[in-house]
Amino acid sequence: MKVLVINAGSSSLKYQLIDMDAAAVLAKGLCERIGIYGSNLQHKNLVKTISVKVEQQMNDHADAIRMVVNALINPDHGVIASMDEIGAVGHRVVHGGEYFADSFIIDGKVKEALKKCIPLAPLHNPPNITGIEACEKIMPGIPQVAVFDTAFHQTMPPEAYMYALPYGLYEKYKIRKYGFHGTSHKYVAGEAAKMLGRPLEELKLITCHLGNGSSVAAVKYGKCVDTSMGFTPLDGVVMGTRSGSMDPAVVTFLMESEHMNPTEMNTFMNKKCGVLGVSGVSSDFRDLTTAAQDGNEHAQLALDMFYYSVKKYIGAYAAVMGGVDAVVFTAGVGENDAPARARIIEGLEFMGIKADPEKNAKRGVQIDVSTEDAAVKTLVIPTNEELMIALDTKRLVEG
Ligand code: ADP
Repeated sequence: MKVLVINAGSSSLKYQLIDMDAAAVLAKGLCERIGIYGSNLQHKNLVKTISVKVEQQMNDHADAIRMVVNALINPDHGVIASMDEIGAVGHRVVHGGEYFADSFIIDGKVKEALKKCIPLAPLHNPPNITGIEACEKIMPGIPQVAVFDTAFHQTMPPEAYMYALPYGLYEKYKIRKYGFHGTSHKYVAGEAAKMLGRPLEELKLITCHLGNGSSVAAVKYGKCVDTSMGFTPLDGVVMGTRSGSMDPAVVTFLMESEHMNPTEMNTFMNKKCGVLGVSGVSSDFRDLTTAAQDGNEHAQLALDMFYYSVKKYIGAYAAVMGGVDAVVFTAGVGENDAPARARIIEGLEFMGIKADPEKNAKRGVQIDVSTEDAAVKTLVIPTNEELMIALDTKRLVEG
């Protein structure tokens, strides 16, 4: 089966066509500036290694999907003869609220529930729904599956997901911890079990998805029992531009002192804080490392705060699970930044966590970087959210 994976944003749409039988990505690409002047599609045929850029106005997501299909079936740079070769479409959806603890084949009821989740993710869910409706229009009859960033975390127990607010507010607004990056945490947990040669159902894993946005998850016997992101992706560890956890009173203090309204405060915490805010240099960890090496103390402080915040979650989640078999690093920083991994696990030898500096120096490959005698393994596993979406889509469509 060939699965088309769609990740629709407000003005962009990423796609991959994956041949599940050959376990190969046939083509991938990106539509940019949808509904804005200057829209274009960048398409890569990975079979013949051809790249093309098509500049054509896309007024909405339906136009974008039409262009994606045209690129996929194009006689020169396409990879399939006709749309009928697409067996199913898997959509990344950011928020599934409490409705979805797994991926789902999209029908009227699922779409209704998706719309009910809009207040929880007002920026992300509407374009995801638009992408689904565009595919339904352009590819009628081809099954569509929704795969949620939040679903994997729905197994958390109430003591982990509830906030200490009056209970009625949870009932009224569904304010609770949801967690994000679930597709990535689920994927690397599964890969970790394969690497360790043990069933996932026997393992206690701490998965660290560290990129621009970062989250840590405690995965006990294959199920998420806690995660660092919360009601929104703002909570948890220090991130590129997001503050992560802090005393909630800081929010009201700053709104009063700096005369910010709720929207301004929300934008500030999402875009101007994190390692960018502390360093004043960049949100990119490569820039920060260079600046710190050049003696910029604020860049070093920002990095130290990031490492420290991740380390604390590792300790906390080992306590939550009553032990840990492996710590897994993934995403941009987790996969590539060897010094970050070393600093995060530094001092955790007492827990049995110890990396071999030579193995840890490797970048972007699936590798066990622990020392031979480490009781707890440290694994680096490149994430693959698109493959996870395609696998879930195939599983559901094939029943
Ligand atoms: P997201 O998907 O959250 O936007 P990514 O997972 O792509 O983010 O991660 C982006 C981050 O990864 C950037 O901050 C970048 O600096 C970092 N990164 C990528 N490569 C390296 C590297 N070689 N060393 C350090 N950091 C890296």
